[in-house]
Amino acid sequence: MNLPGFDGTAYHSGRLNTGAALMTEDEVVEIVLRHVERKFPMACSACGHPFASLKEYLEYTNHLGNPISYDAEAGDWRPWKPVGTLSYANCRCGTTLSLSSHGMGLPTLWRLLQWARTESSRRGISMGELLREIRTRIDRQVLNLEEEVLTRK
Ligand SMILES: [Zn+2]
Repeated sequence: MNLPGFDGTAYHSGRLNTGAALMTEDEVVEIVLRHVERKFPMACSACGHPFASLKEYLEYTNHLGNPISYDAEAGDWRPWKPVGTLSYANCRCGTTLSLSSHGMGLPTLWRLLQWARTESSRRGISMGELLREIRTRIDRQVLNLEEEVLTRK
């Protein structure tokens, strides 16, 4: 979805030293999706159920609450030692699993945090709600539910 009238120029004063303008939501979805996909294959730490792909993981687990950015919650928007952003899910065995931002480069993580900070404020929603929206878009993309998105509202 395009954001009419929003080209990031109002954000000049907050530019990072990468010289990059604020990302679009599509770019954010793409970056986070590529990052999370690299975590597979993996297996449940408790029951050993294998997840060959993000798709299998999403089909087998249930999201638990909104994703949490611990750095944002601490007000640290450019963390040198990030605690990370985590999305929790319950395996069918009852164990709580998570996918995290761990392993993401600092410049990328900082740009995502900048984006989330600006967008949550602009949209008037919490960071958790914004992260949930991004996760929902990723879920739909991975599970091939794009048509549902188009017909929804
Ligand atoms: Zn399990």
